[in-house]
Amino acid sequence: MDHFEDRPGPTGEAELWCEGVRLADIAAAVGTPVYVYSTATLERHYTVFRDALQAAMPARRLLVAYAVKANSNLAVIRTLARLGAGADTVSEGEIRRALAAGVPPERIVFSGVGKTDAELAFAIRTGVCEINVEAEAELDRLAVVAEALGARPAIAIRVNPDVGAGGHAKISTGKAESKFGVSFSEARRLYAKAAASPWLRPVGVACHIGSQITDLAPLQAAFVRMRSLVEQLRADGLTVERLDLGGGLGVPYFDAPEAPPLPALYAAMVAETLAGMDIDLAFEPGRLIVANAGVMLATAIHLHPRAEGRRFLVVDAAMNDLLRPSLYEAYHRIRPVRAGDGGPEEAHDVVGPVCETGDTFARDRMLPPVEAGDLVAFLSAGAYGASMSSEYNSRPLVPEVLVSGDRFSVIRRRPTHEEMLSRETVPDWLA
Ligand SMILES: *Cc1c(COP(=O)(O)O)cnc(C)c1O
Repeated sequence: MDHFEDRPGPTGEAELWCEGVRLADIAAAVGTPVYVYSTATLERHYTVFRDALQAAMPARRLLVAYAVKANSNLAVIRTLARLGAGADTVSEGEIRRALAAGVPPERIVFSGVGKTDAELAFAIRTGVCEINVEAEAELDRLAVVAEALGARPAIAIRVNPDVGAGGHAKISTGKAESKFGVSFSEARRLYAKAAASPWLRPVGVACHIGSQITDLAPLQAAFVRMRSLVEQLRADGLTVERLDLGGGLGVPYFDAPEAPPLPALYAAMVAETLAGMDIDLAFEPGRLIVANAGVMLATAIHLHPRAEGRRFLVVDAAMNDLLRPSLYEAYHRIRPVRAGDGGPEEAHDVVGPVCETGDTFARDRMLPPVEAGDLVAFLSAGAYGASMSSEYNSRPLVPEVLVSGDRFSVIRRRPTHEEMLSRETVPDWLA
């Protein structure tokens, strides 16, 4: 459920609104392309997920750490932090964002395949609640860094449960051949090694098998294995306080019945899989919280016909603003902001202005009549949209707007061309 819906505009014609604000008003004030997020949807998605888990497991201590990389805008993190969300972070920059947004260190998890010594030291000094270790070499480096700081950080071992899942090969992380985590036998050895170190405090094990998972079966298979790992570690005489089950639950990008499981079903599955176990739980949802809380607005630059009755719709947004279609062949619903009268739909290739064929948002997409100058919305664009944007083709970084009720605020402004140029210098020898 989201808070983007058709309502009458000033002329009485139906058009897309976000909560109490016309998207057309935002486009007029800020220009396009622009991302627009709904506070009510962000709050709702976080609350539904947390409440479902808490209702299914009333006695458990839960940490819901929002995966910051999905949408790392400070105002978005702040919106969730105010509801008690933690943060799952993958770089020093993300830890700094989480802190700046008001997430307390004891709710920050530091994950990632390649953390540098400097980042590990920063996480230790910050006092994050869990550093997820992904390799033996990292465990060894972390012990050295911790010793130098005279600290004993809480760590979890990230396990690769060897379960395939995830919407696309590039976002599947749980198979043995992927670069993430260690095997079960490795995890057992590394956990014992960490427990023997005076500089490390192993508190748990973690997994994250992929993203955009729309089926509970692979998640459950992974969680069953994580449970048996915890039991094995405990049988080895080791203390395991927390199980971090990662993120990955998918969202409905299509109108069609790809329907991912509801949080309540997910929560029931977790409760059943872990029944009878005394352990705290952590979750790291990203996409589930933000994807359907955001749209990207673009303006139609022009249309031009192509052979075989196809036509190109060229918009002023491009792959640098929304990379997912080029990178993952991801599907986003696309629609004119004005609802129109349901006139005849025609096949369009929706493309951006960047000089690469990959700069294509959709092929043969059936759309109602669109004219140059019309506003077009890309739906479900709140996750891995703005956070993956760049200035490729020297296009100014796409701005972001947050709506709350009938207010809106620019939460990342578009840089000027002068600012973009001023970050670069030409060495004297070229003067
Ligand atoms: C990316 C990531 C997540 C979030 O994944 P979503 O599919 O957005 O829920 C959670 N945990 C880790 C370790 C990640 O890398």
